[in-house]
Amino acid sequence: MKRVLFAALLLCGCATAPQAQTPRWSIAIHGGAGVIERAELDPQTEVAYRAALTQAATTGGEVLKKGGSALDAVEAVIQRMEDDPLFNAGRGAVFTAEGRNELDASIMDGVTRKAGAVAGVTRTRHPISLARAVMEKSPHVMLIGEGAETFARTQGLEEVPPSFFFTERRWLGLERELRSRNLPIPPRPAGAPAPDVRSENAPLDERKFGTVGVVVRDAQGNLAAGTSTGGTTAKRWGRVGDAPVIGAGTYAQNGVCAVSATGTGEYFIRLSVARSICARIELKHERAQVAADAVIQRELTALGGDGGVIVMGANGESAWSFNTPGMYRARLVAGGTPVVAIYKDEP
Ligand code: ASP
Repeated sequence: MKRVLFAALLLCGCATAPQAQTPRWSIAIHGGAGVIERAELDPQTEVAYRAALTQAATTGGEVLKKGGSALDAVEAVIQRMEDDPLFNAGRGAVFTAEGRNELDASIMDGVTRKAGAVAGVTRTRHPISLARAVMEKSPHVMLIGEGAETFARTQGLEEVPPSFFFTERRWLGLERELRSRNLPIPPRPAGAPAPDVRSENAPLDERKFGTVGVVVRDAQGNLAAGTSTGGTTAKRWGRVGDAPVIGAGTYAQNGVCAVSATGTGEYFIRLSVARSICARIELKHERAQVAADAVIQRELTALGGDGGVIVMGANGESAWSFNTPGMYRARLVAGGTPVVAIYKDEP
């Protein structure tokens, strides 16, 4: 009898069919999308990015392993990436045309669909924590500039001088961008270190974006998403991109999906990219990968925008989609090891 059953299982392929298992927890991370190609990225820089992404995934994994919430994991990972000068968020953010670092961030809780966002902050060390405080400790969703910073003070969040965010590579990137646009180069910010002309300070290619984002499903099955950025190099007039716009750069809804985006923010706002992806999953029952590809590869591309997203499905299945040559990215599930990728041809 047993033999008959075994043969039947083999014949139908059931015995070898992979089990669609829901991981206990799952996390996906991006560190920006853009023109990231093997020929351009020197081996040392590539190793540094891979190590930073591995570390970011591990940080999230440690929170989730201990039963930490999706929100805690999002905040812990983004705080870490905001402190890492490799990424365009917190320290290492790009400069405005006036030579300032104006930081944007947002976070969303899939359980309650509460959200918090900040734009144009210049002194709060961790904009992601300020976004979370807006969500949890204020009746609002979005605060900007001076007001946001006043609120940060009432919450006891760490404040740093604006020069804390300064990096030579981003400054050189600004100078190059302004020269190409025939715009004046502002004086170096107060408190910035003396110019450093060593070769490792070659300007960062600004087409590599560098925004950071995290999507999580925790062991309780709750979803959360967060995004943090310095925006685009040489931005002017108080320009704000998609990162702090809920529904554009960030979205989370339990039972549906969590999304964080990176790319040319104006297009992501116009398409409500993050919410559109979740709506497709919710209403058309598309899988995360299908929904992400439909919005990024078709809608965003048709409009002329570039960039990408990471998506976390309700069951912990993550997906990424981007229409640029590369996107810094990583994923980790309970019991696994971090999977890190940069180029388009990597899985
Ligand atoms: N989306 C960000 C913005 O437009 C930039 C980026 O992702 O690199 O501000």
